[in-house]
Amino acid sequence: MEYQHGTLFGYEVREYLLEKFGHQCAYCGGASGDPVLNVDHVIPRTRGGSDRVSNLVVVCRTCNEAKGNRMPAEWLGALQASARPLDRIRAQRFPEALKRLSQPLRDAAAVNTVRWVIVDRLQHLGLPLERGSGGRTKRNRAGQGYPKKHWIDAACTGASGDRVRLEPAMRVLQIAATGHGTRRRCGTDPYGFPVRHAPAAKSYQGFRTGDLVRARIPRGKYAGTHVGRIAIRHRPSFRLNGFDVHPKHLQLLQRSDGYAYSWG
Ligand SMILES: [Zn+2]
Repeated sequence: MEYQHGTLFGYEVREYLLEKFGHQCAYCGGASGDPVLNVDHVIPRTRGGSDRVSNLVVVCRTCNEAKGNRMPAEWLGALQASARPLDRIRAQRFPEALKRLSQPLRDAAAVNTVRWVIVDRLQHLGLPLERGSGGRTKRNRAGQGYPKKHWIDAACTGASGDRVRLEPAMRVLQIAATGHGTRRRCGTDPYGFPVRHAPAAKSYQGFRTGDLVRARIPRGKYAGTHVGRIAIRHRPSFRLNGFDVHPKHLQLLQRSDGYAYSWG
């Protein structure tokens, strides 16, 4: 009950509506030039309209005030009678906005059916578990004055996410999944004809594609020290950072494990 009617509830509904209407005024589509978005009751509360999401739209402040206390049919009639360019746009868009009221977010519906299964499975692992919602994360982050970044959102998730200490000097270990290559044994041209076959061996002179290496190149155009991940060929010429390098100049720093690591 507290969750459904507490301060968080309004936050969640607003996020849902912003997503549903594409962060745009549902009445004018941004034509008014007013960047402030409000939640509007299509059937006004004073005239029997409910707080259910099927009665709520995201609209700019200008449109919100222009519609005022009118019922949908009254507002549409006034718009159709008006010659103002902004009202012509509104009159054209309004029936579409009404149609979308009862349409649920398809993605949200799909996620809802699986998320409790995930929670249930995780609970069986017996590890400390905390759940959070997108709206709560945003409120936690905004309440502490942190900028929008995925890693900051990750830190601000859940019940403990409203007291997170972040210093500007902190660095983030970024891990990107790079995979272990492809199982395809035969490459094709744009028309689907076979043009090359992958060798059975995945390594050459002890190196594999994706290995992190340091190259010390004594002379030539690319003389110097380079660090990066290599793509091997089955001859002594590998690709590193966009140029070719002989494996004899390479020192293995980290074996490819399907992930790329970097400090951000
Ligand atoms: Zn508007």
